[in-house]
Amino acid sequence: MAGFSHVRDLLENPPGEEEVQVRGWVYRTRSSGKIVFAVLRDSTGIVQVTIKKGNLPDPEFEQAVGATIESSVEVRGTVHKDDRAPGGYELRAKSFILIGPAPPFPITEYQSEELLLDNRHLWIRSREQTAVMKVKASLLMGARNWLDENGFFEVTPPIFTQNACEGGVTLFKLKYFDREAYLSQSAQMYLEAIMFSLERVYALTPSFRAEKSRTTRHLTEFWHLELEEAWVDNIGNMKIQEELVSAMVQEVVRDRKEEIALLGRDIEQLKAIVPPFKRVTYSHMIERLQGKGIDIAWGCDLGAAEERAVTQEETIPTFVTNFPIECKAFYMKQDPDDPRTVKCADLLAPEGYGEIIGGSERETDIDIIMARLAEQQVPVDAYQWYLDLRRYGSVPHSGFGLGVERVLRWVCKLEHIRDAVPFPRTVARAYP
Ligand code: ATP
Ligand code: MG
Repeated sequence: MAGFSHVRDLLENPPGEEEVQVRGWVYRTRSSGKIVFAVLRDSTGIVQVTIKKGNLPDPEFEQAVGATIESSVEVRGTVHKDDRAPGGYELRAKSFILIGPAPPFPITEYQSEELLLDNRHLWIRSREQTAVMKVKASLLMGARNWLDENGFFEVTPPIFTQNACEGGVTLFKLKYFDREAYLSQSAQMYLEAIMFSLERVYALTPSFRAEKSRTTRHLTEFWHLELEEAWVDNIGNMKIQEELVSAMVQEVVRDRKEEIALLGRDIEQLKAIVPPFKRVTYSHMIERLQGKGIDIAWGCDLGAAEERAVTQEETIPTFVTNFPIECKAFYMKQDPDDPRTVKCADLLAPEGYGEIIGGSERETDIDIIMARLAEQQVPVDAYQWYLDLRRYGSVPHSGFGLGVERVLRWVCKLEHIRDAVPFPRTVARAYP
């Protein structure tokens, strides 16, 4: 008998008569006198363990009788086919050892959302949360593999900053010794700087935004995957986005069939997420919205409700390009073919989930940037270093930011974005 097996190995390659050992946590248990049925959970799955008095030393049987939910245990035994057991096999115990006992678990079947959030540190052990975390790991692996294959360097921008990239309203301000600093809302400007060394760069960092409105798609701390690409225009930028998103989703299709099924999403819908995605201009989108009877004028940004309305019926993501210049940040490049707009694209997930990426070609003309900073009454001092990037060998370039939890929410069909992070930070909560 070689060490401990994982539950998945037992179910996928039943060992026959050979004894095996597994370890994990009690997922549920019931007993009737001389027999205990415990379901044991580890990181790979669940298996039923049958503990029968007489098959193991009496003190171990008593431990099994007393084992509460989420106790950690080690079990030795043999695996037998049983169609009634989850996974089709059960483990008949010859030994059952309690490693860490547990008091009554505070989470039972029907619980208020508040209680679940208060006990988040325990609730993340649930099968749904476990599945979501695995899907997230696969999305990130798919992203990293694609980025590596396509010549991107992973880099490490700072989190403390003195720039307000996405505007002042949602900045978290903090005391930085005797000065003021902020928590980063986006690594973009630093990536633009590093791009001059490495040409194609990306970073995966937390971004912080003091989002005061309660929505189902805003966190105050989220994981941001940002790219910056030298010599790439807005069209090339969209190609990179659709290939990257597709690589992320297809990694989930390959690795996470079980988890996707458990979360109630049809895997066929994910298989369909391949390039090309749809492309629509902002102006066209406004006409479409007006056609649906929605009261919106050219010049207004699209909110969650508008995005839902235009993506509800879609099955693949849609790029919305050419937003009005006044809706977007000062660094986005004005479109010479339509100067009311910028060369940008928001990528909207289908089925009503809405924005998952914001990206653009970057303005390279320092005078235009200065004028727009002045228009928005931004003090230019903190941006002098950024303006240097336009002074010293500026090149056409583009980039974007992908909200990892936004993608995960869509892929896993989650009602609320807080279930896309183990410890959600929102206006209402930073505990546990
Ligand atoms: P929204 O209009 O939804 O607030 P935004 O325009 O502020 O988004 P960007 O500044 O373009 O978003 O940020 C890039 C990406 O980061 C977004 O497309 C989204 O996926 C993600 N994102 C932005 N804000 C949040 C947030 N508060 N919580 C989670 N993800 C976010
Ligand atoms: Mg925002």
